[in-house]
Amino acid sequence: MAAEDAARLAEARLEAILECVTDAILSIDEKGVVVAANAAAGTLFRCASEALLGVGAALLLPECRLAAGERRQNGLARRPDDSTFPAALTVTETRGARLRIAVIRDLTEERAAEALLCELRSELAYAGRLAAMGELAGALAHEINQPFSAIATYVRTARWLLQRKPKQSAEVEDILAKAGAQAMRAGDIVRRLREFVTRGESVKTVQSLATLVEEAQSLGVAGARQVGARVVVAARGENDHVLADRVQIQQVIVNLMRNAVEAMDGATRRELSLSTSSADGYARLDVADTGHGLKDGAGALFEPFRSTKATGMGIGLSISRSIVEAHGGRIWAEPNPQGGAIFSFTLPLAERAIL
Ligand code: ADP
Repeated sequence: MAAEDAARLAEARLEAILECVTDAILSIDEKGVVVAANAAAGTLFRCASEALLGVGAALLLPECRLAAGERRQNGLARRPDDSTFPAALTVTETRGARLRIAVIRDLTEERAAEALLCELRSELAYAGRLAAMGELAGALAHEINQPFSAIATYVRTARWLLQRKPKQSAEVEDILAKAGAQAMRAGDIVRRLREFVTRGESVKTVQSLATLVEEAQSLGVAGARQVGARVVVAARGENDHVLADRVQIQQVIVNLMRNAVEAMDGATRRELSLSTSSADGYARLDVADTGHGLKDGAGALFEPFRSTKATGMGIGLSISRSIVEAHGGRIWAEPNPQGGAIFSFTLPLAERAIL
């Protein structure tokens, strides 16, 4: 009797352990049939754990080898309802009894984390490109300088010719043509620089603008915490789906947030608020801050190389404008009635962009 009690107790203990682990555990007999399944197995395979009894383990784990002693394997597991999930499987054999124990872990979240990491890596590559651009800027400044000094020389010579030899129109024409060609060359260099930064290949998918803002916020807000700015994300529009290159639009949002945070450095009231809305076929984002406000009017800010910052390159807003306009939208800045500035952009709603 005592031995029987002890055996029953051991079994109850084992069962309690099996029921509380989060990995799915299946006991498989020598024919490959499931003879026991814990509660987690039921959860993972989305059925009552009893429903797994009598099922061939190979049906549930079609991509895995079920021989004992295999190292951890990864493969798709199939549920009785035919849906699948990525799983990690370890199989061990029970000593004495001819049973194999399969421990199955759901990798769905791990895979999602890997995908996110992969995306972050591509974003990092982009950030790396921006850093490389910083290094290139010196070299480019030199390159752009050459056609400009050539233009200056040609124009000076043309004026000199006009003053000295008023009849030499063919020569002057030739020199002005050369000046024109150099101006085109300078323009080309600037265009190539912009293409390099805004990335040649654009991958557009339908995205909710509010979701893009939420994701970008995690990148842009890091700076916000440093200056103690409060971020308020308000009003999610009903239909705010736009056809957009996710990384590019997030780059614009992060850029506007960073600028806002920098503008509020040292201000007594530091509030950054982001709100999305949609109207007249366009989704819109407003990024409002309570910083020092727009110093030299709003128009010139979007021109390249306009910066009021000691270390600024003045290229962020110009790139943002290129990106927004390439998406068929508009970007602008206005003074914030409560002090500070509001930067806004619109993007055509997805139905409109597809048409
Ligand atoms: P950078 O940040 O390198 O100066 P940007 O193109 O991003 O380049 O910005 C250009 C200029 O626009 C800034 O130097 C600043 O004077 C002005 N600006 C941008 N955002 C704001 C803002 N939120 N508030 C006030 N001024 C701003």
